[in-house]
Amino acid sequence: MSKGVLTVISGFSGAGKGTLMKRLTREYDNYALSVSMTTRAPREGERDGIEYFFVDTETFQERIRQGRMLEYACYCGNYYGTPRDYVQQMLEAGKDVILEIEIQGALQIRELVPDCLLLFVTPPGAAELKRRLEGRGTETPEVIARRLARAAEESEGIEAYDYIVINDDLEECVRQIHSMVQNARYTPARQETLIKEIREELSEFAKGAE
Ligand code: 5GP
Repeated sequence: MSKGVLTVISGFSGAGKGTLMKRLTREYDNYALSVSMTTRAPREGERDGIEYFFVDTETFQERIRQGRMLEYACYCGNYYGTPRDYVQQMLEAGKDVILEIEIQGALQIRELVPDCLLLFVTPPGAAELKRRLEGRGTETPEVIARRLARAAEESEGIEAYDYIVINDDLEECVRQIHSMVQNARYTPARQETLIKEIREELSEFAKGAE
């Protein structure tokens, strides 16, 4: 078990995860946001090493072979993955690490780190999702259609997550996510040392009472 909480945030493309994460890491100190690696082309304004590490397919596959990806998935024809080192270092340093990744990756993380927290962010409804995707103005109608079809598939996997976060009011959402991460510190799986100590002390008391 690591010192920091590992949180996965998934959600339909256009659910507003990026904005939420920026706000969360700005408002609270203890978060470290993992920067993923991808083979998709940068959107306008995206910078290498900030939004993503942009690489070609060959480089990505090499990283997989070297075991340097904590998880990875193919999404709408491109590879996306989480570089392992940064996440491990930050968790060891006690940071709460956030991975903003899709569902195949989320399920891999749950296998690897069973005490992680899985959050699913959604707009209040499907019509709002479509409106946000179109409003972003960065994708072609074909890409939007592909992402909506993908959202329909992803909606089938929501039950795998621990909590749903409805992204209606940004500030409220940020507060909710922060309190979910804080609460995750107090699951029995993350309090093994405390539980062990209490049990030992209680058994000493019980002996004294015999
Ligand atoms: P976009 O192209 O819109 O930036 O991202 C497309 C999808 O890939 C989003 O659902 C995003 O959460 C997901 N994604 C981004 N980085 C990773 C990653 O490292 N691993 C996985 N599995 N999914 C990722």
